[in-house]
Amino acid sequence: MKKFIPTLLTSLLIMSCTQLQATQESPENTMADNMPKNIIMVVGDGMGPAFTSAYRYYNDDPNTPEIEQTVFDRNFTGTSSTYPDPESGYVTDSAASATALSTGIKTYNNAIGLDINREPIETVLEYAKKQGKKTGVVVTVQINHATPASYLAHNVHRYNYNAIADSYIDDGIKADLYLGGGLEYFIREDRNLVEEFIASGFHYIDKYSEIASIPKDKPVLGLFDKTNLPWALDDTNKHRLSMMTKAAIKQLENKNGYFMLVEGSQIDYGGHARDIAAAMAEMDDLAKTLEYLESYVAQNPDTLVVITADHSTGGLTIGKKTERTDPNINSKYLWRPEFIRAMTMSPQAMAIKFTDNELSLENMNKLMTFDITEADIINMKQAKLIDQGIIKQFNSLSSADKKGKRAPRPYQSVLNVITKIIDVKTNTGWGSISPSGTHTGIDVPVFAFGKGSENFNGFQDNTDIAKKIFTLLGKK
Ligand code: MG
Ligand code: ZN
Repeated sequence: MKKFIPTLLTSLLIMSCTQLQATQESPENTMADNMPKNIIMVVGDGMGPAFTSAYRYYNDDPNTPEIEQTVFDRNFTGTSSTYPDPESGYVTDSAASATALSTGIKTYNNAIGLDINREPIETVLEYAKKQGKKTGVVVTVQINHATPASYLAHNVHRYNYNAIADSYIDDGIKADLYLGGGLEYFIREDRNLVEEFIASGFHYIDKYSEIASIPKDKPVLGLFDKTNLPWALDDTNKHRLSMMTKAAIKQLENKNGYFMLVEGSQIDYGGHARDIAAAMAEMDDLAKTLEYLESYVAQNPDTLVVITADHSTGGLTIGKKTERTDPNINSKYLWRPEFIRAMTMSPQAMAIKFTDNELSLENMNKLMTFDITEADIINMKQAKLIDQGIIKQFNSLSSADKKGKRAPRPYQSVLNVITKIIDVKTNTGWGSISPSGTHTGIDVPVFAFGKGSENFNGFQDNTDIAKKIFTLLGKK
């Protein structure tokens, strides 16, 4: 199928011809035909290979003999290294890795769209916009968080949240669509960026129910929470990423095509929290999004979808050798996701409920998908006392001493007990040595489908992914 391609783009394409593999019959149209019209970059934050393996078994239908293939399995193309610039060692954070994915250069951890000399580097989103494409970001954290910011902004530190939000207006509006969280940074005492977006012609929404009625052909800003959205497990729509992505595509489709970043942002939070139940629900939201994108690409074969992770988080492992209780029976290797498949509330929400109301064993068991023990409840009560002590100590600090310190969460120790109960029940392990869950330096999987997906085969570096996308956008 021949498509109209602007002349400038065609000449750029001919120059970058050698980097693409020809699959067409007629050689003179090879490059134009290899250009995807639309590119959707999907990042599973923290989604190392243990997460996609775990999701396969979590997603398995135990009533069928086979282990059902997942959307990740059938679209796997290769792997990617994730290391940052040597200035930051071998283990990346989301900012350096997203900057690698968005610009094709290695940088230091915390950098947003800057190289190690703190100079701004053009991102694939910015380049796509210059080519006349529409652009958008859909995430489940604040839209000025490290991953989306690395496509949209240039800042020395990812935690300069207000400055990054300001730059979304002050450096020129770079996207036609923003869906995610972040109200706290966009409506502030010193500045109301939402009003500024509206003044620039944007349609603004702050409820999921308003997504259905976004006017066509209007740029849109949707901020659905103060910072990140609730856990998928606790959200009113457990598949909010797929819902937002569907709406975004409708909004962005146009004759010149679009570039969109979609992020399953909170898989990483699940890894940091060592919370397998929350992490798997986030994976499920991302998987449903990818299943939708598969059907979209089947209808729109001129679209490319590339999926990867920025790093892995938490050192997740699945399985344990069971105790050998009988000398005549061998121990088994088991991972048991059946205990979390039916979960409808996050361990965090359970911990908050327990801390507020001190639930009985019976009432805790109603929230869980399996029966916990009286000993578990005793541990939770002790953890609650520890939390009360931590809060009391924090509150007794002078305001000068409190400055710069994050207030402890009044349910953190209870939450740690609950996630540990689930780990023991499911035989889930968190191998990282950091007690708070760290990023790990292992390679991450790469998945791709649609037009040009063959470019993402085999081993690659995260910077290669940006370089390939630049080429597919026609950059020399
Ligand atoms: Mg099965
Ligand atoms: Zn992280």
